[in-house]
Amino acid sequence: MDREFWNKEIETLDRKRLEELQLERLNDTLARAKKSEFYRNRIPERVESLAELQDIPFTTKDDLRKSFPFGMVAVDPSELVRVHSSSGTTGQATVIYHTRKDIENWADLVARCMYMTGVRKNDVFQNMMGYGLFTGGLGLHYGSEKLGSLTIPASSGNSKRQIMLMKNFNTTVVHITPSYALHLYTIMLDEGIDPRRDLKLKIAFLGAEPYTEETRKRLEELYGFDAFNSYGLSEMNGPGVAFECRNKDGMHLWEDHYIIEVIDPVTGEVLRDGEEGELVLTTLMREGMPIIRYRTGDITRVYPEPCSCGRTHRRISRIKGRSDDMLIINGVNLYPMQIEKVLMGIPEVGNNYLIEIDKVGYLDRINVKVEVRPEIFKGDVRDLENLKHKIIEELKTNVLVKPHVILVEPNSLPKSEGKAVRVIDKRKSQEV
Ligand code: ADP
Ligand code: ZN
Repeated sequence: MDREFWNKEIETLDRKRLEELQLERLNDTLARAKKSEFYRNRIPERVESLAELQDIPFTTKDDLRKSFPFGMVAVDPSELVRVHSSSGTTGQATVIYHTRKDIENWADLVARCMYMTGVRKNDVFQNMMGYGLFTGGLGLHYGSEKLGSLTIPASSGNSKRQIMLMKNFNTTVVHITPSYALHLYTIMLDEGIDPRRDLKLKIAFLGAEPYTEETRKRLEELYGFDAFNSYGLSEMNGPGVAFECRNKDGMHLWEDHYIIEVIDPVTGEVLRDGEEGELVLTTLMREGMPIIRYRTGDITRVYPEPCSCGRTHRRISRIKGRSDDMLIINGVNLYPMQIEKVLMGIPEVGNNYLIEIDKVGYLDRINVKVEVRPEIFKGDVRDLENLKHKIIEELKTNVLVKPHVILVEPNSLPKSEGKAVRVIDKRKSQEV
């Protein structure tokens, strides 16, 4: 009979034993990290309880940049076998080194995640994330091979080839950014392909960028697959840090590999489960580059209640955005995802949008460019006017700012094949 867990013992370990394991691994981590230049004088030899972690200072993205190249490396550089870097979404990329054991552990975590969603040996997995320094390609690749699925290293882009691969190999599982999945569907339409009818897709992993529940639902409807949220960041390996189980309600964050904290991004105070704040993570298994209390910048909350799937590792909620994604429009705080939520909930809205912010006199103005579904775009002008008003009204009610909405032709906005750029803020360049 098919087993339900990749590693039942560890995935369902009772909380008390899990915390004992964390404390043991935290002390191993402190001992290892002490060997690096960066942590040498920054951390204690050991701690007596997990609570004492709170006395150790945070590590930031800037610390990683400043300690480039080897300031955080805790082993002899000859032990390192791989280097990855972040995508550089918020500035200069950060660099992470791995030992052979780090790579093996990462592959095992990814296999655990994939298995949890229902992927098995006989599946065909097409990995549509960029191969290279970015972690989305190679990270999932080794996990999928470890699980035993046939793995297609398709990488991102080249949509017609992606569709051909799906057909030729009967792809059942894909890994793709949500923005690229929205775009790829429009190419399928042009090619006369209906994924529900013509393809064999069952499961999709969507991650690497923030997106809303509405976008997930829309993609599941268009493609006919079950979509699972996948969270990770290169500083903590990349994908495989947290993943949804079949319940699709929050992502299990693997606490045998990471310690979770959620803090108030302004005061740094550690918050209770259930409270929203910035996610802070500590690696427990890293050899090459242990990282302690890393400020991810990602806004989320920990679910206080256990999951009915039986896994004891706590879940985090969908990432609302990065703390530095927050926009302030005439004094009102706003996350781009609040806009996406409204847009993707309106059926006539197409699969792409762009937010532009500029200044008119002293006031901020928010322009939302929205692609319209092809049949609506070609239809009655009055329908377009009505749609525009509907979008403005819904945004006003849900987001509390009145945007300027511009409806545009399908496929006319810049396309995303990786992480989408959703916001262009022109205010800075307008300042004199
Ligand atoms: P960069 O920080 O330069 O984008 P990474 O490639 O390491 O580099 O990306 C990690 C970041 O991507 C995370 O910190 C988070 O902001 C975002 N991210 C990854 N997965 C998700 C997800 N499922 N939902 C929302 N955001 C995500
Ligand atoms: Zn679960």
